[in-house]
Amino acid sequence: YTGKTGNELLTETIKKYKVQDYQSRPIVVEESTSVYDAISTMFLEDVGTLFVVDHHSCLTGVLSRKDLLRASLGKQDLAAIPVHIIMTRMPNITVCRRSDLLIEVAKQLIDKQIDGIPVVKDTTQGLEVTGRITKTTITKVFVELVMDDQV
Ligand code: ADP
Repeated sequence: YTGKTGNELLTETIKKYKVQDYQSRPIVVEESTSVYDAISTMFLEDVGTLFVVDHHSCLTGVLSRKDLLRASLGKQDLAAIPVHIIMTRMPNITVCRRSDLLIEVAKQLIDKQIDGIPVVKDTTQGLEVTGRITKTTITKVFVELVMDDQV
């Protein structure tokens, strides 16, 4: 018997969870993509956050649902506005890496009040987008924690 409390054991378990084990596929668009096409992509891919990349597949921005809604409020032609005009841009993007602890990324989602964080890999060209962690990822892990205990 280890003498650890239930909470200590739970903490120990959660601190073993890494980004690489739970990340999902990132949905990316290029900077020149129109706001109209980005909205279509968001529906087709069924995601709430799109990552914007340059021609090296390196991260330059993020598009949330509200970013696209805001851009749709005016009378502009959405097919004529490129997403790089409206996106949240680097270096103001919160990113994570595959070896990061999932709990640290979850904390960032709360602290920054955002829905998703890109998983990136450092390259000479910039930050290559290789995955994503979202609030859904964290919800799934939370449920899995209980389900795994019941088998
Ligand atoms: P929504 O705006 O649809 O509620 P979010 O809460 O995710 O979705 O986004 C809030 C704002 O933060 C948006 O302007 C979005 O571009 C920006 N944002 C989203 N994800 C990130 C991130 N990983 N790093 C920096 N800014 C982000």
